[in-house]
Parts: sequence; C-alpha cells; structure tokens
Amino acid sequence: MEGLLLQLRNNDKKVVTENEAENIANEKTKGKGKLYIVGIGPGSVEHLTVKAKDVILNADYVVGNDTYLDQIESLLTNQEIYRSTMGKEVDRAKEAVRLAENYVTVMVSGGDANVYGMAGIVLEVAEKNEISVEVEVLPGVTAMLASASVLGAPVVIDSATISLSDLLTPWEVIEKRLKLATEAGFIISLYNPKSRQRKSNFENAIEIIKKYRDGSVPVGLVKNALRPEGQEYIVTTLDEVLEYNDWVDMRTAIIICSEDSRVWESEFGSKIITPRGYHKKYEY
Ligand code: SAH
Repeated sequence: MEGLLLQLRNNDKKVVTENEAENIANEKTKGKGKLYIVGIGPGSVEHLTVKAKDVILNADYVVGNDTYLDQIESLLTNQEIYRSTMGKEVDRAKEAVRLAENYVTVMVSGGDANVYGMAGIVLEVAEKNEISVEVEVLPGVTAMLASASVLGAPVVIDSATISLSDLLTPWEVIEKRLKLATEAGFIISLYNPKSRQRKSNFENAIEIIKKYRDGSVPVGLVKNALRPEGQEYIVTTLDEVLEYNDWVDMRTAIIICSEDSRVWESEFGSKIITPRGYHKKYEY
C-alpha cells in the first residue's frame, strides 16, 4: 500500500489519501482473483493430483476446515489461511467467494468436492449473491475409490454412493434410495454411516439392504482409507456386517457388493473381486 501511494504521488503529481489509494488498489486487483475448489483426496498429500498440489502451493488464500487443512499442512507454507469448523460450510463458502473476488483462493474439500463436498454450496453462494468470480473445480480421489483400492476390486460394475447423513436429506428419501439401488443390483458405497447424533442409521440401512440382497454377498469396511495413520479394513458378509457395528464411525466407508462378487484369499490377505463379465467371453 505504501509503495502504491508513493508511486501515485511521484508519477501523477497528484496527492491521494490513504483511503483513495486503497480503493485504487482494490480496483486494480479486482477481477484478478480466482476460486479453485480443490478435492484433496482421502487424506494424505501423496494422493493429491499434481495440479491440486500446484494450485494449493501458489494460492494467496487457502480456506477449509481444521481436518482438511491439517491433512495438507506440509503444503501450507506462506499462503494466508482461513480456518473454519465442521458445520460452518455456508460461512466458509461465503468467505471463499468474497476472497476470490480479489485473490487467488483455494477452497479445500475432502476427497472430491462433488461427492458430498463443497463444490455445490460454493457455486450456490456465488450464484445467489450474483458474485461474478472465475471458478475452477479440481477433482480428488473420493472415499469410495480410496476404499475400493484397499479392498481390491469390489466396485468395477455399475455402482451407487449413498450418504446416510440425514442432516440435509430426509431419512425417508435415503431409505427409498437404499431400496431401489439394492433392487437394481448396484454395488453400494455408504458414506457418513454414523455420527454421535445418528447412531442407528447404519444399522437401519443394513436392515433395508438385507431385504433385497443375498446375505452372503461380500461387504468391505474401510476406516481412514489411504491416510498416513489409522487405516484399517474388514472383509465380511452382509449377514455378518452388523457384528462390526460398534467399529463403524464417521471415518469409515462401507462397500456392499453384488451377488456375483467373491473374496480371494491369499497369503497376502483378502481381496474382494467383482467380476465385470470377462469370464463369460474369454478363457483365462
Ligand atoms: N467429499 C468426501 C466425502 C465427504 S462425506 C469424499 O469425496 O470422499 C464424509 C464421509 O466420507 C465419511 O463419513 C466417510 O464415510 C467417508 N470418508 C471420507 N474419507 C474417508 C477415508 N479416508 N476412509 C474412509 N472413509 C472416508
């Protein structure tokens, strides 16, 4: 600011007040900002895309909640940081859009920003408030893919992701989707299985799925998939999955497989395989 003030004085021989100089500075930078909504993947920097890493390193501002900012802490060297807490998504979105009018701003979102992430609310806030800002969404590895990779090849065919959080979606809608996705034969990945307030959603969901799918199908449960610490997984069946009910928490994703899926046991552990159908056409 000082520099700009002096420059104006010398070049234009016109004295401006601090306030005027600030307004000029704002005008000069206005429109130079950009908002990146960045999926940071399952929780370790090595699973970020190269572009996501690049954009974070070069941002003026990084906006996110504590959990996600902690996951990329090693990249936060000289950017300004705007921290917010879980449940304050709307405030965070407003702040990011406001900052992006003038600064290169990154809004971080866990996994992928399109999968129960921040992409939607950020665009909604910009649209509603008629803030014209350039937005680029960068994809990240979502929990379904991170967990599938830990389990082997459980997904491979058509699949559905269903969040069991009824904070923004009524439980009746979730129940209907569980029923129809199961009936239609989709592999089902369950997100947000439990929270302190919603202890029974996971159990209720499994009871619905069991009505429409054979109890012997493999089920994989993965906690902290691809995170540097705390990764654990369990391979079981639909009939037996509720034995692990107490183990399931908000850091867990669950993949319910199809009647064609199977478990391959080897000396290196259990891998779930959902065949795509090659065996019907080829010998191997
Ligand atoms: N946008 C995120 C999902 C947010 S919803 C994504 O694309 O992954 C939060 C839920 O995602 C959690 O309750 C959990 O079910 C799942 N989740 C996120 N990261 C996970 C991880 N590393 N391992 C297992 N589940 C995870």
